[in-house]
Amino acid sequence: MKHLTAYVFLMLLLLSGCGAQLSPDEAQESIQVIAMDTAMLITTYGERSPAAAYACEDVIRDLEAKLSRTVEDSEVSRLNNNAGKELTVIGEDLSALLDAAAYYNFTTGGAFNIAIAPAASAWGFTKDHFQVPSQEEIDELLKLVDGFTLREEPEGVALGPGQSIDLGAIAKGYAADKIVQVFQEYEVPRGLAQLGGNVLAYGDRPDGTPWRVGIQDPAKPGGKNAFVGVLELTDAFAVTSGGYQRYFEQDGKTYHHIIDPATGYPADSGLTSVTVVAALGEGDGSGFPGTMCDAYSTALFIMGEEQALAFWRDETRWGEQGCPFGLVLVTEDGRVLVTEGLADRFTLDEDSGYTYEAVS
Ligand code: AMP
Ligand code: MG
Repeated sequence: MKHLTAYVFLMLLLLSGCGAQLSPDEAQESIQVIAMDTAMLITTYGERSPAAAYACEDVIRDLEAKLSRTVEDSEVSRLNNNAGKELTVIGEDLSALLDAAAYYNFTTGGAFNIAIAPAASAWGFTKDHFQVPSQEEIDELLKLVDGFTLREEPEGVALGPGQSIDLGAIAKGYAADKIVQVFQEYEVPRGLAQLGGNVLAYGDRPDGTPWRVGIQDPAKPGGKNAFVGVLELTDAFAVTSGGYQRYFEQDGKTYHHIIDPATGYPADSGLTSVTVVAALGEGDGSGFPGTMCDAYSTALFIMGEEQALAFWRDETRWGEQGCPFGLVLVTEDGRVLVTEGLADRFTLDEDSGYTYEAVS
């Protein structure tokens, strides 16, 4: 069995040298952080750039220690291990994420579901021991997913017997939201955080132009300069979900990590990637637009083109905390769909072989 764990992140094009000149007093720090199963890159500017970059690392490591279900003693692991038994004491971050997850489960009609964990594990995505589960096994596990309950008491929370959660579809977006707070605290004038498929473009580039964020061609996951196009972003989050980011192959078939809660199988919606873009300061009303983008990139990938666009068009479905967002959808049949409002910030790579469609 061949497998690939691709630490694929949106590529920072500006580093490939766009001739930007730093003003002499503008220091820059760039650090790589391997966390949350992802190679991350944090770039900060300004006088306090080194301290800011390392403070971001601290935030990421702290969140990983609390939220990862592969870290033995994390709050999430304790919650999963205590399922059907005693209450687990949880902190502010997990509590906020459980609320956000319930909210996005509701707005997406169930496509976003952190209770998918038992099914994701059956496919081997938790421990990289990949396998195709039997239909009987999937049917049994979907009962746990569908019957998900979260008991909330003042002393702690508890899942139902056999149930477990996975915050992989939302934790990096939440980390990106917290990085905005660090940037503000350290008075970072501009910066860029690439947390796998989650990119935070903070401020603009030193030469005053927007950050350039390439959208990976899902058909060429290993390709270094294989982009379907480029987004130009200032003060925005761009979060991409795609089957190409983590998958395995068996008997000539490819199985990826985004599981449709309706079937228990990897989503097969005709989309190969979904990028959700939102401005800083918007988001779910509680100041977490990165979290929102992360939840929606996963959910809309599962929904497919038609449903994703219907969702985007109908703001009544975003809920009370909803905020404007834009989409770049890449389809299996070679099209790139860009929603109105984002279209003037997107440039198709003419050599990519994809065709471009603006959507309104
Ligand atoms: P992302 O890369 O943000 O799209 O998140 C994908 C990850 O979220 C997977 O690796 C799983 O850990 C988890 N996941 C898979 N399917 C779902 C789903 N339907 N809802 C929520 N999380 C999911
Ligand atoms: Mg996500």
